[in-house]
Amino acid sequence: MPTFAQKLLKWFDQYGRKNLPWQQPIHPYRVWVSEIMLQQTQVETVIPYFNRFLERFPTLESLANAPLDDVLHLWTGLGYYARARNLHKCAQTVQAEHQGQMPSDVESLEALPGIGRSTAAAIASIAYEQSTAILDGNVKRVLARHHAVDGWPGKPAVLNQLWQHAEQHMPKKRCRDYTQAIMDLGATVCTRSKPQCNQCPVVSTCQAHAQSNPQDYPGKKPKKTLPIKQIQMLLIHNKSGEVLLEQRPPTGIWGGLWSLPELQQTEDSKAHISEHIGKVSTHIEWPQLRHTFSHYHLDISPIAVKLAKVYPQIMENNRQLWYNLQQPQNLGLAAPVKKLLEQLGTRL
Ligand code: SF4
Repeated sequence: MPTFAQKLLKWFDQYGRKNLPWQQPIHPYRVWVSEIMLQQTQVETVIPYFNRFLERFPTLESLANAPLDDVLHLWTGLGYYARARNLHKCAQTVQAEHQGQMPSDVESLEALPGIGRSTAAAIASIAYEQSTAILDGNVKRVLARHHAVDGWPGKPAVLNQLWQHAEQHMPKKRCRDYTQAIMDLGATVCTRSKPQCNQCPVVSTCQAHAQSNPQDYPGKKPKKTLPIKQIQMLLIHNKSGEVLLEQRPPTGIWGGLWSLPELQQTEDSKAHISEHIGKVSTHIEWPQLRHTFSHYHLDISPIAVKLAKVYPQIMENNRQLWYNLQQPQNLGLAAPVKKLLEQLGTRL
């Protein structure tokens, strides 16, 4: 009777994905960048970002030596910006502590910024052919279904069970192919909403299939209503079509990205601008826009404010700048800010 891994590898030889950009060629640096980008993000979305990133930063050294703003700029739209900041920090750590070479053992990999247990195992198995099991979102779903593991994987007890299954199936040979195979199975066959069990290589041993309830696995996160925060975002622009941006603090929401000045929902924006920035010539409220984070909704009331004249003196420190809509600088922008700037560009 073939094992789980043998069945999966046989399936992979025929149906697995072998032409992804980070597989050509396979190199620890490329594997690491792709694994970070693929966290919480689908392959199709990642591909153009990966290609642009590798074009700009072909080596770990080039990434370590780049300004953080350039890295965040290439990350704009991918979300979860802590990943980009950690990627940059990690490249600098590898330069300083590992002579510029990504380490090959999971312990050293896990000690690096932004690399957790599953990502460390993915790099070790894909880049270095080590027998280290991964457990990303796709693999959790496959294993929860195959072994009918009840409960939400966010709970430590459930997660532990899934890790045990992951490790028990991990083969000693063809480690790279097996890791890719189980990721591919989750992404293309054992999908979230419509698993194609009739095309699955492990259907004969799958407990969820036998119970006819794959959709019940993995268990859902207990629901809670997200709180709503409300802010005003000011699109303060001058006669030359430049918009005032502010850099956010390095940690927290949109850390290090460039954003629009904000006011509390209750503050009088017109009075605030007249007092602190300059005389307002037009002041237009745009329709509200919602941006949802994992732990709250942010309702943004955008206000386009045109200043009566150019006020270069606003740039009092290096956390503010005038952003030229016609010749945009390379900056990391939060997704809703990017959208608002594009809208402003079409209205000027
Ligand atoms: S048989 Fe169906 S539910 Fe089970 S692992 Fe395969 S695709 Fe997923």
